[in-house]
Amino acid sequence: MKNTKIQKHRLAGGFNPSAYIYVDQFDHRQNEVMDSQSGSYGEAHDPIDSAFNDELELNGYNCDHCTHCGSRLSSGSLYRHTSGELVVIGHTCVSRLSFNTADEIQRAHRESRIQQGLLRGIMNASWRWRIVGEFLQQNADKSEIISDMLNKLAKYFSLSRRQIAFARKLVREADERSTLAAEREAKIADAADWKDGRFEIEGEILSIKWKSNDFGGSYKMLVELADGRRCWGSCPSKLDSADKGDIVRIKATFSKSNDDAKFAFFKRPSVVS
Ligand SMILES: [Zn+2]
Repeated sequence: MKNTKIQKHRLAGGFNPSAYIYVDQFDHRQNEVMDSQSGSYGEAHDPIDSAFNDELELNGYNCDHCTHCGSRLSSGSLYRHTSGELVVIGHTCVSRLSFNTADEIQRAHRESRIQQGLLRGIMNASWRWRIVGEFLQQNADKSEIISDMLNKLAKYFSLSRRQIAFARKLVREADERSTLAAEREAKIADAADWKDGRFEIEGEILSIKWKSNDFGGSYKMLVELADGRRCWGSCPSKLDSADKGDIVRIKATFSKSNDDAKFAFFKRPSVVS
């Protein structure tokens, strides 16, 4: 019987890696030595809970196959999908659950295959470029420029010292950005959600941009509070000469974003002195 509902667990059928919650694991590989307590051979290490097995089978799944990729397995993990279904995920597929989307998984596979192929080509053709090639391949996901350099190196075997220095700088900057992003994520987890209403805030200007509209246009600014929350709105005319990095205190009418409780839009700002 073809199981059509299984499609949502498949990479090509709407698989959503963030829709699974870990339940339990099992290991049906058999003992190769005698169990000193039971005195028997061939016992499963960690048999599946029979209630879970019944649930799997009632739903048309089973514990001998990875629900995600279909391959045979003798050990794996049980996950509860948001639809309520219990599924089996094998060891190799478990790492896919840490991605946000199926697209990300496919992109990661494509890129690493291509990049590893390029690196192999470089190493076969010239040992001199091995270290640079490895560096570019390991960091190719951090910048389009670096992945482009890897392509060019594999094709032409020439990169100048300046280009290599530039690649190192790009990697350093990308690493710094991801450290900052991780710090902000950790900080913002503790911040309260935005509230709607008119009140004062103090924060740092992250950017100022000119936005044109039907009436001409105005400067808009992105402000980050000390707790990591951000808001976006018009730049008061009193802040004409304000710049990125300045700390400002404004009173404005805030409305929380529908998509992100740590982000708000503001109107009618006035500078608080
Ligand atoms: Zn699998």
